[in-house]
Amino acid sequence: MKEPEQVQSLPCVKDARGRLLRDLRISVTDRCNFRCRYCMPREVFDENYTFLPHSSLLTFEEITRISRAFAAFGGHKLRLTGGEPLLRRDLEILIDMLVRIPGIDDIAMTTNGSLLTVERARSLRDAGLTRVSVSLDALDDDIFMAMNDVQVPVTRVLSAIEAAQTVGLSPVKVNMVVRRGFNEGQILPMAAHFRGTEQVLRLIEYMDVGNSNGWRMDDVISAEQMLALIGQHWPLRPLSAQISGEVARRYAYVDGMGEIGIIASVTQPFCSGCSRIRLTSDGQLFTCLFGDQDWDMRERVRRGDADEELVNFLTQIWGKRSDHYSEVRLAITPQRNKIEMSRIGG
Ligand code: SAM
Ligand code: SF4
Ligand code: SF4
Repeated sequence: MKEPEQVQSLPCVKDARGRLLRDLRISVTDRCNFRCRYCMPREVFDENYTFLPHSSLLTFEEITRISRAFAAFGGHKLRLTGGEPLLRRDLEILIDMLVRIPGIDDIAMTTNGSLLTVERARSLRDAGLTRVSVSLDALDDDIFMAMNDVQVPVTRVLSAIEAAQTVGLSPVKVNMVVRRGFNEGQILPMAAHFRGTEQVLRLIEYMDVGNSNGWRMDDVISAEQMLALIGQHWPLRPLSAQISGEVARRYAYVDGMGEIGIIASVTQPFCSGCSRIRLTSDGQLFTCLFGDQDWDMRERVRRGDADEELVNFLTQIWGKRSDHYSEVRLAITPQRNKIEMSRIGG
């Protein structure tokens, strides 16, 4: 492999709305062993669905080069996602490569937890993973399985959360997507389960990502409704954001039993602080989760562009970025052709 070039760190480049780039989300695979109905419904992602061939996926070297350009641009946080990131073989090797990039100080992963044993959590941590978010939509097996549409029981995911905690990948964030008619009855059991533990539950408003999940505004339980429900049982008080650009609004239980987060992307959009860019597993960059335009990084890397040229390309993309989809959601036509969540990675 070519020796990495030294890329000069650029002065911070703001996008057209004055936002800095801080956070790169890397989808390492478009495949998943779950078929969550809100993300990869089985009717669409069935045995005839064509996933990317291995040759289309970015190699670990290519992901590392793009991440290095991102770091030279001023970014410092990486998040590995998918599809299900733990389906990508040898993820530890990638993490070990990413952790060596100057400027990168945080490598997190979002996983469905089904493959996260204590041994795996330990090897990921040893490679340099710093944090884990585990998705879990219910504590009741029937509800959970109806949502993930595979026969993975809740205990498997609870063990994954435990495993991550045991090896020190803590505090583990537990992501629960709330969809009306499916799991709103699980909000209180989930809150009760994670209150007073080291894990932080984050309730996520169901979003209209992609074109497959048949999203309707009526399916959304709003942050306000979720807070009211929890607050009736356990009074809450708002906490200030720990870091700028934090998407979850944080609340503390007044009785001292820890905190809970709410991600209100639909009803209280946070576009004004959005500092993220997303890389699909085949090397396309998206500047918005709801983006309909991508930029081909893979082509640039494979044709041999120098690191400097990759950074210049990022400068161009970010400089003209003006995305604020969630703020204008209601004005957008439903026919808009958006990227699927399983491809862009959340
Ligand atoms: N497979 C991994 C997992 O489920 O954690 C990582 C990828 S998944 C696309 C990332 C996150 O997006 C998960 O927490 C998932 O629950 C969330 N997600 C997927 N579809 C969503 C939707 N329509 N609305 C809100 N969140 C969604
Ligand atoms: Fe898979 Fe995650 Fe999408 Fe569920 S949310 S189908 S686990 S990628
Ligand atoms: Fe960022 Fe786009 Fe989400 Fe707004 S809608 S917060 S710009 S990803």
